[in-house]
Amino acid sequence: MKRGRKSCEARAPHQPPFKDLRSHEQPCIHPEKRRQFPNVRLAQFRFEVRNFLHRLLHQSPSTPYHAAMILAFAPHPDDLEFGCGPILFQEAARGIAVHCIITSYGEAGSHGSPAIREAEAHAAAKILGTSLEFAPLASDAHLAPSPAHAMQIAAHIRTHKPQVLLAPTLVENQHPDHVALAKIVRDAARLARYAGLAELKHLPPHAVSAMLNYAITPDAEPRDIVPLLIDISAKETLAAWTAAIVAHASQLQTRNYLDLALTRAHLHGLRAGVSHALPVYFNDPLLLPNLESIGHSARQF
Ligand SMILES: [Zn+2]
Repeated sequence: MKRGRKSCEARAPHQPPFKDLRSHEQPCIHPEKRRQFPNVRLAQFRFEVRNFLHRLLHQSPSTPYHAAMILAFAPHPDDLEFGCGPILFQEAARGIAVHCIITSYGEAGSHGSPAIREAEAHAAAKILGTSLEFAPLASDAHLAPSPAHAMQIAAHIRTHKPQVLLAPTLVENQHPDHVALAKIVRDAARLARYAGLAELKHLPPHAVSAMLNYAITPDAEPRDIVPLLIDISAKETLAAWTAAIVAHASQLQTRNYLDLALTRAHLHGLRAGVSHALPVYFNDPLLLPNLESIGHSARQF
């Protein structure tokens, strides 16, 4: 499989979600991991059934699909699944086009080759219902903010014209690529709307509506920003998330990232009176038309 291509591997924007979740395309899960996480097999079966029913109920030819689009960036093949996988799944499931761009093959990792990690990421993307593209900026562990990298990311933004951007949080003391890409995407969002940049003249300027940051691990959660909690308690969401994480079998040899992710989400959910929730963080103040649009907060008054 040729690397560095620009075409979308899975469904194109605005196509119905779940297109690639055919029954003969089961996520690639190593047999050892199936034994290690026995509940995954049952969860996957339930997910497939619910997926089938969802297609039957919601994807008639007359079903309108939202024009909105989410563009999510990650420096390594498993970051999106660990940090915001269930959020992407739920958005795709309700008809939002979700495109993911990964900027390295995770080649610095202790487990898994670049080819294995690329295959794992594609398997996970199929489970989540997103499209996926590898667009290397620098090799794993060598990424640093630069105008050239910001221009490259800005070109992706101009190409896909998203309403919402997703990138890792700006919390230091993580894998250095995480923070580096967060800064690059933040800068690129601004460059994407500047009409006078010679490097981007071939693409029309585009202004995103909002940029959100996701925490890849508990340690990457900002302590000084009140998060927006997304309810991911639905069983089909948790099943898809579990399967997507397990698809990264090579990385689960390092530690039990599945339990770590689920436990983190369970703790956030309990804070808000639901089963599971994941935080995202606004890069900028959120503008709402009125107080009623807030919904309700996590605190139990
Ligand atoms: Zn990473």
